[in-house]
Amino acid sequence: MRNLIRKLYEKSTLEKEEWIWLFEHRDLIDREELFALAREQTYEHYDHKIFVRGLIEFTNYCRNNCYYCGIRSGNQLVSRFRLTTEEILDCCQLSYEAGFRTVVLQGGEDAFFTKERLCEIIETIHRKFPEVAITLSIGERPREDYEAFFLAGAERFLLRHETYSATHYGRLHPENLTAKARQHCLADLKEIGYQVGSGFMVGSPYQTPENLAEDFLYLKELDPQMIGIGPFIAHKDTPFGAMTSGTVADTLLCIALLRLMLPKVLLPSTTALGALALDGRKKGVLAGANVLMQNVTPSAQRLNYTLYNNKERAKDIDLSPDNPLFKELEQLGYAIVSERGDSKNV
Ligand code: SAM
Repeated sequence: MRNLIRKLYEKSTLEKEEWIWLFEHRDLIDREELFALAREQTYEHYDHKIFVRGLIEFTNYCRNNCYYCGIRSGNQLVSRFRLTTEEILDCCQLSYEAGFRTVVLQGGEDAFFTKERLCEIIETIHRKFPEVAITLSIGERPREDYEAFFLAGAERFLLRHETYSATHYGRLHPENLTAKARQHCLADLKEIGYQVGSGFMVGSPYQTPENLAEDFLYLKELDPQMIGIGPFIAHKDTPFGAMTSGTVADTLLCIALLRLMLPKVLLPSTTALGALALDGRKKGVLAGANVLMQNVTPSAQRLNYTLYNNKERAKDIDLSPDNPLFKELEQLGYAIVSERGDSKNV
């Protein structure tokens, strides 16, 4: 196992069979040694900087019915909301005042937000906050929509591929959604010129070591600027409500392995990690992550944007520089910076 980790550290790649073996025997990995190697790579490319993104959850309406997701269209128990343009701008202001120079507009696939409406919102944010990088996380759209958003001023796009395997994808989603279509969107986004983020859930139902191996190989090939991964967390009002959630340990392992495979990638320590453990996000940084998402959505709506149970734990809304997570990271030698935090992988 040590030789395999060495190989990954030195060559930034492994063969499929090696990945599978590594995941099957992950108990043999010396985690502290691995995390130290991952941190070394992070520091080489990004020093001790932690970039912060202001996350705006602007709609929980969604036309999709993904089996794992709390805001799936079939969940009648969700109270649905949409932020107005004014409210979105208020969130951007809050984020700006807190020193964050990236906003992430995240939402379900909501037909209300037509190409024209979203372009107007993006243009307004761009005009009012020219130093801020606008990131979209709004799911699958026709290529012409992606092009229009890019021209309007959105520069980054987060779209997790969820799982590379068509079969596994089919077990997580209804038939109208396919791995191929998702990957096609990612290819479009890259071609248009977005800084692209992809990723998957760790410990999603039916995930095998081979699935993970394929996810890693796909990400290596895609070579995205960002990778968002987090544990799958069961949501009680979904078909996967009784499934076992992913673990903090496996998520940290994947973060560190991704850092070794793609040393320059931007890696968030996600809110889902913070939902599983109070110190989850700090541990993510110590495993090689270098981005934090701070939720700037108004609390009334934020509570209805429940993708998974336990989200309330992650509702770290203390945006001041004195918030406990920032303070703790600073004590560990990190610098929470007020920068756009572009990827070094361009
Ligand atoms: N609709 C957009 C999309 O499809 O990319 C953005 C919103 S979607 C809810 C954002 C991400 O949440 C998904 O890519 C998925 O990986 C994650 N997610 C959904 N349900 C989850 C759960 N139960 N546990 C952990 N992550 C979950």
